[in-house]
Amino acid sequence: MSDENIGHFDVVVVGAGAGGLCTAIEAAAGGARVLLVDKRREIGGMLHIANGEFSGAGTRRQAAHGIDDTPEEHFAEVMRLSHGRADERLAWQSVRAQGETVDWLEGHGFAFDPATPGLVHGHEVYSVPRTYWGVEHGRSVIAVLRRLLGEHVADGSVTVRFGVRVEGAVVEGGRVAGVSGTGPGGAVTAYGGAVVLATGGYDADRDLRNRFLPPGCENALIACLDHATGDGLRLAEGLGAGTGGDGHFIPVMGLIPDPGRPGFAVDYREAFVEVAPAYRTPHEIWVNRDGARFVAEDTTSPEHRERALLRQPGIEMHVVWDRAVAEAAEPLIRNGAGDWTRERMLEEHARGRWIAAADTLEELARKLGVDPGGLTETVRRYNEAVAGGHDPDHGRTVLPSPISEAPYYGLTSIGASLLSRDGLRVNGDLAVLDREGVPIAGLYAVGEVLGNNVFAGDNYVGGMSVTPAMTLGRELGRALAAGLEDAHG
Ligand SMILES: Cc1cc2nc3c(=O)[nH]c(=O)nc-3n(C[C@H](O)[C@H](O)[C@H](O)COP(=O)(O)OP(=O)(O)OC[C@H]3O[C@@H](n4cnc5c(N)ncnc54)[C@H](O)[C@@H]3O)c2cc1C
Repeated sequence: MSDENIGHFDVVVVGAGAGGLCTAIEAAAGGARVLLVDKRREIGGMLHIANGEFSGAGTRRQAAHGIDDTPEEHFAEVMRLSHGRADERLAWQSVRAQGETVDWLEGHGFAFDPATPGLVHGHEVYSVPRTYWGVEHGRSVIAVLRRLLGEHVADGSVTVRFGVRVEGAVVEGGRVAGVSGTGPGGAVTAYGGAVVLATGGYDADRDLRNRFLPPGCENALIACLDHATGDGLRLAEGLGAGTGGDGHFIPVMGLIPDPGRPGFAVDYREAFVEVAPAYRTPHEIWVNRDGARFVAEDTTSPEHRERALLRQPGIEMHVVWDRAVAEAAEPLIRNGAGDWTRERMLEEHARGRWIAAADTLEELARKLGVDPGGLTETVRRYNEAVAGGHDPDHGRTVLPSPISEAPYYGLTSIGASLLSRDGLRVNGDLAVLDREGVPIAGLYAVGEVLGNNVFAGDNYVGGMSVTPAMTLGRELGRALAAGLEDAHG
C-alpha cells in the first residue's frame, strides 16, 4: 500500500455516469486535460439499470416523424407537470439544449428504439412525443459515451481511473484544488483546476435518503444501484455547501420487496409489477394494510395513483387476484427485457418467492399482513361492482372479472425511491453554492447530485433526470475548457 499522487489536470471529474462522462468528453473535446475517476470498475453508473428515457424538443428525429415541437413548449410542459415547482432557471438551461443532446447522440450512432420519439405512460404523459430510448435502454447510452470517451483516452486527453473512491477535497488558497480518497493501492490524491462532482444520488444510503423524505416514507424501497450513497453531497456539505430539502417526494410504484435483502427492491431489470393500464389491462385489485382499496386501479394518471399510494400506511399496497386471472391475464410481472411470458408467470405463482397463495381470502390476508375482514369485505364489494358494471367506491371502469376462484393470490409492493429528489445547490455555471448562496471556488456539480426536484418539482417528468445530467454535463465540460482558453489567452 502506498500513497499515490495521480497528478495535476485541468479538470477532475468524480463519477463516470451520464453526467460525469458527458462533462469529461466535452471538456476533453475543448482541449482540457481531464481526469475521470469512479469508485466502480466500469463506466455508466445508473445507466446500467435505468430505462434511459431521455427527452428533447426540436430534434431531427422529431422532424423526420413530422412532429412539430420546440424547447419553449417542452419547458412549458416541464413547468406544468412539475406544478411550477421545478427550478425555472436550471430547468430551462437544460431543456433549451436537450434537443441538441438528442441530435448529438444520434450523430454518434445512438441505437434508437424504432418506436421513438414516443409517449411514455410510466409518468404523466407529454402532449407530444419527445421521449427517446435505446434498444438496450440505458446501456444504449453507455455504448455511445464509451465510444466517445475511448477516443479521448486514446489521444491522451482523458485519464480514467477506476476503483478510486473520492472521500475529500484538497483545498488550497481558499479554493478546491483537488480530491483525495482511496484507490486500489491505498490513499490517492489528484489535483485539478476544477473539480466536478458527478457522483449521482443518495438513495442507496437509507439514513441519508430518509433525511430528505417526508415522515411516513422511511419504508420506501431502495430501487437504485448500490453506488448511490450520496458521497458528493456529503463531501460538498463538509465544505459548507447548501442542499435543497423541500420535502417533495412521490413514490415509484410496482417495485417488489426483495426477500433476500430487506429494504431493497428486486432488481428492476429482473421484475416489477406493471401498474400502467396503457401497457396491461388490470385484472387485480390493490389494497392497503386494512384490506381496503385506495384508488381506481385503471387510472391513466400515474401521478394520481402514486399520490394515492403515498397516503397509505407504509406506502405499501397488496395486489390481489384469483385462479381465473392467473390463468387468463397477461403477466402482471414485467421487466425491460420483456421476457415475462405467461408460462414464466405461472411458474412464479408456484414458486412462491414473491407471490402468496391461499385457499381462502382470510388466509391470503394473513399471509400478506392485511386485515382479513377488510380484505373479504373489499373483495365482496369489488365483485358486486364487476357484476353491476359500476364501481361506486373509486370509479374504476375496467372491471373484467370477479375475484372468486381459489386459490387466491397476492403480492406486496412498496413505494420506492429510485432517484434522489434533493441535492446540491448550484448557480448557472454549475458552481456549487455554500449555505449563503456563494460559489465554493473550484467546485462544480452536475447530474443527480443536484436532486431531481430542480428539474421535476414534486413529480416525475419524462427524461428529466438523465437528460439534464447529459446536457448540463456537456455544457459544463465545454465551459471549463473554454475557461482554460481564456486563461491562456
Ligand atoms: C430503475 C431506474 C430507472 C431510471 N429510468 C430513468 C429514465 O428513464 N429517465 C431518466 O431521466 N432517468 C431515469 N433514472 C434516473 C437516471 O438514470 C439517473 O438520475 C442518472 O443516470 C444519474 O446520472 P449521474 O451521472 O448523475 O449519476 P450516476 O449514473 O449514478 O453516476 C454516478 C457515478 O459516480 C460514481 N461515484 C459515486 N460516488 C463516488 C465517489 N465517492 N468516488 C468516485 N466515484 C463515485 C458512481 O460509482 C457512479 O458511477 C432511472 C433510475 C433508476 C434507478
